[in-house]
Amino acid sequence: MRRIRSRDTKPELLLRRALHKRGLRYRIHVSTLPGKPDIVFNSRRVAIFVHGCFWHQHLGCREASSPRSNGKYWKPKLLRNVERDHLHTEKLISEGYTVLTIWECEIEKDTACAVEVVVSALSHFHENV
Ligand SMILES: [Zn+2]
Repeated sequence: MRRIRSRDTKPELLLRRALHKRGLRYRIHVSTLPGKPDIVFNSRRVAIFVHGCFWHQHLGCREASSPRSNGKYWKPKLLRNVERDHLHTEKLISEGYTVLTIWECEIEKDTACAVEVVVSALSHFHENV
């Protein structure tokens, strides 16, 4: 069985490398925060999850409904993942974090665009300080 939550997936690495190139520095897989966000900008309190479209059920995404193994087995597990994601997001927000969820298909389609989403979240925070 594959692990539900895969780390260091290709899209995640793509995004991390691109952010690094932009001169941005961050921490990864921060286990002290709810849900262990994949990328965290601590000083600006921005937490980012890079989510696999199947495991986290990207709404309206083709990957989310890909008929991988049998639906009866996976469905409850996937629903639990989605519930957990919501919970983690809520906890992070209550701790003052801005939470971004970036889907793997978005990064694969347009990494530069995903980078802009992150950059604008970071600068938005700045404007409000
Ligand atoms: Zn997707």
